[in-house]
Amino acid sequence: MKYRAAATALLLLLAPAAPARPPDAQWLAEAAAFGDELSPSQRLQIQQQLDQALTSAAVQSALPSRKADGLPRLQWPLRANPAGYFGYHGVSNFVDHDAAFPNHVRDYVCGSRTYDNAGGYNHGGTDYFIWPFPWRTMDAGDISIVAAAAGVIVLRSDGNPDRSCAMGDLPWNAVYIRHDDGSVAWYGHMKRDSVTARQPGERVEPGEYLGLVGSSGSSTGPHLHFELHDAAGRVVDPKNGACNAAPDLWQIAQPYEDPAINTLSLHAAEPQSLRCGLVDGQPVNEETYALHSVAPGQSFLAFAAFRDHRNGDISQFSILRPDGSVFTNWQYDLAEASLPRPFYAGTAWGWSQNLPADAPLGYWTFAADFHGRRYAVEFFVGSEAQARDAAVRRERAAATLLSPRRTR
Ligand SMILES: [Zn+2]
Repeated sequence: MKYRAAATALLLLLAPAAPARPPDAQWLAEAAAFGDELSPSQRLQIQQQLDQALTSAAVQSALPSRKADGLPRLQWPLRANPAGYFGYHGVSNFVDHDAAFPNHVRDYVCGSRTYDNAGGYNHGGTDYFIWPFPWRTMDAGDISIVAAAAGVIVLRSDGNPDRSCAMGDLPWNAVYIRHDDGSVAWYGHMKRDSVTARQPGERVEPGEYLGLVGSSGSSTGPHLHFELHDAAGRVVDPKNGACNAAPDLWQIAQPYEDPAINTLSLHAAEPQSLRCGLVDGQPVNEETYALHSVAPGQSFLAFAAFRDHRNGDISQFSILRPDGSVFTNWQYDLAEASLPRPFYAGTAWGWSQNLPADAPLGYWTFAADFHGRRYAVEFFVGSEAQARDAAVRRERAAATLLSPRRTR
C-alpha cells in the first residue's frame, strides 16, 4: 500500500534510542468507505412495490388491529455467527440530513460521515460494513442481519448477484419489515440466496434472522444499509444529535465514534486487501496467510484491525510468553503514520516479529489495550505437530488455537 513507506520512514525517524526499538508499523489497509446508491427512480420503484405489497391480503391479515404509538425502539441489527470476533463492523455512512446536493452533506451530529450525489440521492440509511477481510467474511456467511424491531415482512427480494463493487442500476437482495406503528425498515444488500425463507405476511421478532451481509445491488462492498421510514413514508434517522432533534431509537446507544479493535491475529505474510471481491467475473477473497502456530525462529506479522481509529488514540501492544513474562511490547498512535486524514472508520496494521530459536514452546498471548479495553488472543509456539498435540491435551480443536478472548 502506498502509505506504508511513509509510515515506516516516519516511525524510524521518531524512534527514540530506547533499548528495544519498537517494531515498524506496516500500514496494511484502510476499510473502503463501502456505500451505495439508491437512485430516485429505484427508491420510487421500491416504494411502489411496498405500497402494493402492503395492500395484499397476506400482509393486511397479519397487521395488528390497532396501530402502535410511535416508532419502535431498535436492537442491534447484526450478529456474528461464530464466536471469535471482538468486533466485525464499522460504520461508513450515516443519514444525510442536508436535502441539497451534490456535495451538501450533514450527518446527525452535523458532521460529514455521509454522502450524496449529483443524481439527487441523499444517503437515507446507515451503512454497517464488515471489517477486516470483508469479502472473505461475507463469503463465509459469518455476519447475519437480524431484525432490529418486531413487525410483519411486507416484501423480500433475493437471487440477485451479491459481489457488487461499484454503483450501478442493479437490484438488491433485501427485506422490508412493517412495524406496528406503520413505520417500515429496509434491510439491504444481502448475500444472494441468504434471505430468510419467511414470506410477506409473516411476523418476525427482534433479533430474528433476516439474511447475511452481502454486496448486492448498487453497492461498493459488503455492508448492511439499514433505512427507516416513518408511517408517513419519510426517512427517519434513528440517531439523535445536534443536527437531528428526533429521539435516539437505539436501545443501546451507539456513539458517533466507537473506537475499538475488531481483530488481533498472526500471519505468515502480509494479508491481502481487496477493493473488489470479483475479478474477471470470478469471486475472489482476501488471502490472509493466517497462522495457527509459529515455530521458534520463525518471523510473523502481528496484525490488528481497528474501527473508528483517530490520531491520538494510543494502543499498547504486548506479546507474552507462556509464563506471562513480556517478550516484547510497543505502543502505537495513528498520528505516527501522517496519513491524509486524522480519522478512519477502519484501518489494519501489522508489526513484524521474529521469534528466537530458543523461544519457549507453549501458548503465548498477543494482547492490546485500547480505549480502556483489553484484547488478547492466544497462539501456539512450536511445530504444527506439537500444536496439535497441545490442542488435544487441552481438549481443543486445532482450528481454535487463535481463539480470542476479551478481558477487562
Ligand atoms: Zn447505504
